[in-house]
Amino acid sequence: MAKHHQETIEEVIKELGSSSNEGLSGAKAKERIEQYGLNELTEKNRRSAWKILLSQLKSVMVIILIVASVITAFVGELRDTIVILAIVALNTILGFTQEYRAEKAMAALKKMSVPRVKVRRDGKIVEINSTEIVPGDIVILEAGNIVPADMRLIEATNLKIQESALTGESEAVEKTTKPIEEENPSLGDRKNMAYSGTVVTYGRGVGIVTATGMETELGKIAAMLQDTAETQTPLQKNIDQLGKILALIALGIVGVIFVMGLLRGEDLELMFMTAVSFAVAAVPEGLPTVVTIALALGAQRMLKKNALVRKLMAVETLGSVTVICSDKTGTITENRMKVTVVEMAGRTLDFGKENEPDPEALPEDDNKSFEIMLTAAALCNDAEIKPPVHKKQQADVIGDPTEGALVYAAYRVGIEKSDLEQAMPRILEIPFDSERKRMTTIHEIKSNPKGKIPADVPEHLRENAVDQYVAFTKGAVDSLVEVCDRVLEGDEIHELDDDWKRRIIETNNNLAANGMRVLGVAFRPVNSAEVEDKKVEEKNLIFTGIFGMMDPAREGVKESIMTAREAGIRPIMITGDHPLTAGYIAESLTIVDDKSNVKMGREIENLTEEELDRVTAETSVYARVAPEHKLKIVDSLQRQGNVVAMTGDGVNDAPALKQADIGIAMGITGTDVTKEVADMVLIDDNFTTIVSAIREGRTIFDNIHKFIRYILASNFGEIWIMLLGPFFGISLPLAPLQILWLNLVTDGVPALALAVEPPEKDIMKRPPNPTKEHVLANGRWNVILIGLLLSAFSLGVGLVYWMNDINGPWRTMLFSTLVFSQLFFALSVRSRTKSIFNAPFKENPYLMYAVLASFGLQLAVIYVPFMQGLFTTQALGVWDLLLSLALGSAILWIYEIKKLVTRKRQ
Ligand code: ATP
Repeated sequence: MAKHHQETIEEVIKELGSSSNEGLSGAKAKERIEQYGLNELTEKNRRSAWKILLSQLKSVMVIILIVASVITAFVGELRDTIVILAIVALNTILGFTQEYRAEKAMAALKKMSVPRVKVRRDGKIVEINSTEIVPGDIVILEAGNIVPADMRLIEATNLKIQESALTGESEAVEKTTKPIEEENPSLGDRKNMAYSGTVVTYGRGVGIVTATGMETELGKIAAMLQDTAETQTPLQKNIDQLGKILALIALGIVGVIFVMGLLRGEDLELMFMTAVSFAVAAVPEGLPTVVTIALALGAQRMLKKNALVRKLMAVETLGSVTVICSDKTGTITENRMKVTVVEMAGRTLDFGKENEPDPEALPEDDNKSFEIMLTAAALCNDAEIKPPVHKKQQADVIGDPTEGALVYAAYRVGIEKSDLEQAMPRILEIPFDSERKRMTTIHEIKSNPKGKIPADVPEHLRENAVDQYVAFTKGAVDSLVEVCDRVLEGDEIHELDDDWKRRIIETNNNLAANGMRVLGVAFRPVNSAEVEDKKVEEKNLIFTGIFGMMDPAREGVKESIMTAREAGIRPIMITGDHPLTAGYIAESLTIVDDKSNVKMGREIENLTEEELDRVTAETSVYARVAPEHKLKIVDSLQRQGNVVAMTGDGVNDAPALKQADIGIAMGITGTDVTKEVADMVLIDDNFTTIVSAIREGRTIFDNIHKFIRYILASNFGEIWIMLLGPFFGISLPLAPLQILWLNLVTDGVPALALAVEPPEKDIMKRPPNPTKEHVLANGRWNVILIGLLLSAFSLGVGLVYWMNDINGPWRTMLFSTLVFSQLFFALSVRSRTKSIFNAPFKENPYLMYAVLASFGLQLAVIYVPFMQGLFTTQALGVWDLLLSLALGSAILWIYEIKKLVTRKRQ
């Protein structure tokens, strides 16, 4: 059997049981999903619930505890064994449920970033998830798409595909539809095939799917690709390091305690248990888990605000962003274009009014150029109009908003694209790209069977045009004028001399200076030789006129820009649009004070690094920018120490997004390629969403710092007590099981609750988080000191009770005071500067529940006889309990005073 690339289009379609016009039927597609499975690569590395559970049990702490429980069982201390195992179980359940939730959240986020694909089904074009594609599906490919499955091409218009994912070749390959004779050409030579995972960089095409999922060429090598381990975020690495250092220190101290105890003649078994509990107390085992959870849940919260995080790292980096480089169209503006002005050779037609514009009002000769203009605008255009079902409804446009506005403008004056297309079908095209900033289509002017030119062809084109061709071009006026040599005025064609050029550019600038997006149109007759050779060039065009479109700024963007500024973040606008349009919008949104302070893409093209750095340090608006300029700008900003967030939507934006610290893709208008490389996707394309995501990122960073400080200070409190106790004569201030309890129960629960603290009020009034800052950069000594404070009150009260009555509840006092201190500390650590009396608990009820739950558990340990037995506690009298609580609260008052001083200083 011939291979797909050897067969003709008809053969392939027949073999796969499909139809090029109809596509598959819904029923057949369903059948095939059953037969071939979903179109996705099976992931080997997905962490199943089992794996997560196992990873909990694999942690050093749990292993130590399990070994300890075995040993205690051997020496006959069954009571200890049970308590240790119960604590391990409790801890594992807590860790597991949290991490499972985090994993689920991330998996859900991953699912959301599955690309959507246009396919033909039941004769209609529909959009489906790429996972639902089956062999035989007819798929539409456009520039920016990632090819969703392997397919034989059945249509290719200037189609270029970059196949480096498979072949390593970075140059895009021009595709065709002709069969290839050779039986086994290399993948790169199969020019009539498109392979899953490769990228459409230019043009458009249609293909019939030949293989999906693991059957694709990409699937065959997927096993190799899957070994890339998920990289840790800087914070996670930092914490891992910290954990290792602490573990080493702990090991040393444990050794000392153990040996010292033995020398003092303590019981070997007791010393063993103490050493074990001490190790557990000192190693902040829970930290990495809590950090991962905080990041993953943060990502989930960001999703609610329309920011889809694709890489966990982004959650953390967002808090450090110092510059946001944003596109204009659609991100800062609404991208709901409307043609408001039509300019032809000095005559203006106001399109802005609610009433239908009246071309009849134009002088007769202008009428012709007007007709050509709108015909060109509608035909050189990939948007379509969906006529209203009811007369009173407005017509909808489908496609790019700029193009939609033009088709709609034509529709308003009774020129319908669908009729035009019958009379002048498109036969060739040179697609739009953001380098040329133009687009051209070539049309055949059909004569109808009676030899007459259809009425829909504008008069000017009809004269002597039987079986002729015409090219329509639209694009940025400055770039369009470069390829024009004549201009149409009414029904006369003049040479495009300097005077005309000046007039055109002036008109263009006038519109742009008022914030309008401006587009020019031109045309020229094309002869059949050019068409046959498929060599129609964009040259010698006849300039016809200019459209001015209004694209208002999005609501809330101005406020977001001010918020960003207050937060020490510099907003920068980078756009392909005209400098005057860009300047006007930037000034109205306070991105710049002076709208003329705009740099053009080409102005930064040939600068040296130093020169460029000087420019980027001062410029906040760039216009007429091509994608490669974006990369230069990011590079330069990063060289100056900035953490750059950058948006992008086009095919060629991918390198700049990759280079940026936070690459941001557009959810609505963005291409698959940009979404694939992005760290974050804006589901609503909105600039405001970036600022909300940064706020969320800062909050998470803040909260991580809070619980790290809480956990470490609490751990140090226990370490101090165990170290200092013997100096005062108390050889074992805390019983081993008490340490375990403290560490794994009363500490752990509030720490988790701290991870969901709401943002502090001034969170967007501080400068960005320094990136390279170690988790404990300013607070390394703090935690040790706070630990000392925590221990001082509990050890002190224990000591006094101990001296009073060595058989009394001294240890229970010490134990409880430490637990209470930690709980009060959890409340204090909520804010660095704000008094806890100003931070209502309804903002974070979880913390209140956690503290109350821990408090209740502690009471149970003190008063429930069964628990007393396990934890060697005695019931405290009311006054003792109150004293313990009062001493426990001391840390809170000290912290409040410190905050007061900080506030006063500020
Ligand atoms: P941003 O980068 O802020 O999204 P943009 O959408 O204006 O800005 P591009 O898409 O690169 O950037 O467009 C650049 C210029 O190309 C536009 O100002 C316009 O003049 C022209 N242009 C845009 N879309 C088309 C199109 N479909 N056909 C022809 N010309 C176009």
